[in-house]
Amino acid sequence: MTSPAYDPNNIFAKILKGEIPSYRIYEDEHTVAFMDVMPQAPGHTLVLPKSASRNLLDADPTVLPHLITTVQKVAVAIQEAFEADGVYIAQFNEPAAGQTVFHLHFHIIPRHEGIALKPHSGKMEDGAVLAENAKKIIEALS
Ligand code: AMP
Repeated sequence: MTSPAYDPNNIFAKILKGEIPSYRIYEDEHTVAFMDVMPQAPGHTLVLPKSASRNLLDADPTVLPHLITTVQKVAVAIQEAFEADGVYIAQFNEPAAGQTVFHLHFHIIPRHEGIALKPHSGKMEDGAVLAENAKKIIEALS
């Protein structure tokens, strides 16, 4: 089966263009990271390439080294910022696999022993909490 074409009006494309606000924690030439507004745990962050692709399946392979480098950088900062026992990294391709926003992104979620994740795309977090968690990660990155 072939995937549908990239929709340039998806919500992450709008965030990348600055049309919708985000709690941004990192940006470089190729990638951006911001807080997930419906976190599955405090510190849940998304890492995206700036270039357009629906998911990993149609991504330009030359972008992937930049993307995974940012994923690693942000994961290390998140582990430190949240004193995490582990870090969960996930990436979904197409609705059947759980994808709900169609611009390639990785989820980075700090994990603590014995604490379950909240549901995917569950409850919207308070803005002040997201801002505070973003600050912690930015500090760990610097
Ligand atoms: P996925 O199912 O992998 O496509 O995940 C999309 C993620 O985007 C979910 O975890 C949502 O909570 C999150 N999300 C949706 N809208 C926004 C937004 N405006 N800003 C940040 N995260 C969002």
